[in-house]
Amino acid sequence: MGTGFGVSVALVGAGPGDPDLLTLKAARLLATADVVVHDALVGDGVLALIPEAAERIDVGKRPGRPTPQEMISALLVELGRQGKRVVRLKGGDPFVFGRGGEEAEALAEAGVPFEIVPGITSSVAAPAAAGIPVTHRGVSAAFTVVTGHRRIGEPDVDWRSLAKVGGTIVVLMGVAQRADIAAELMAGGLDPTTPVAAIESATTDSQVVGRWTLGELGGADVHSPAVIVIGAVAAFEFISAHPLRAMSETTA
Ligand code: SAH
Repeated sequence: MGTGFGVSVALVGAGPGDPDLLTLKAARLLATADVVVHDALVGDGVLALIPEAAERIDVGKRPGRPTPQEMISALLVELGRQGKRVVRLKGGDPFVFGRGGEEAEALAEAGVPFEIVPGITSSVAAPAAAGIPVTHRGVSAAFTVVTGHRRIGEPDVDWRSLAKVGGTIVVLMGVAQRADIAAELMAGGLDPTTPVAAIESATTDSQVVGRWTLGELGGADVHSPAVIVIGAVAAFEFISAHPLRAMSETTA
């Protein structure tokens, strides 16, 4: 059982934001880390768990101050070679649009021991936080997770084909392109009345949920980071009127 650092670099999923949604393993690794290299998307509550003594390196890719991916990979290799206990902390799951694959590849090529610690991805946690099941018996038998972000030189999502797949469509990084995405899905045959939900800053204190139809999505007021859910389940809101109080609230 992995109770500590058997390797030098851990690519760790930080979950969607709420520190209660960290895995036990992520929390354990954080507690014993020498260095934590984190993204902009990692929640403040999770960052608060980084020990005082640990070095903290923010490599968040923000507009105007980007850290190129090659530099991040090179940094991880360098820190790993120094034998430090390195936690590379990424929002959600490290292998879901997290570019964790590129970092793992760089570490493998350099011969630096590493491990992957999965995290709860926002692609299911954000819908859940709004009471939306991504699959539901008799309603949606599949969910497709896609990026709405276009990168030059990368394969583009075939939205018109996706419109014919059925099931739920979960779009990450789709806020800026939402009008084009909606237009393409409708051109592919999705009904303009198809329910849509957007969950901003899911599982954090600033969570906002908006609901529209696909026809309205282009003009909808949505801010990043958000997960956009398209399909019949987006109209669902399975939220208890009498929620249990979280343990963290009762003991705080
Ligand atoms: N590896 C991450 C995704 C990284 S891509 C994961 O598994 O969740 C970044 C995108 O993730 C954001 O643009 C947004 O679409 C989504 N995202 C991540 N955390 C989020 C949150 N707390 N609330 C809403 N969207 C989130």
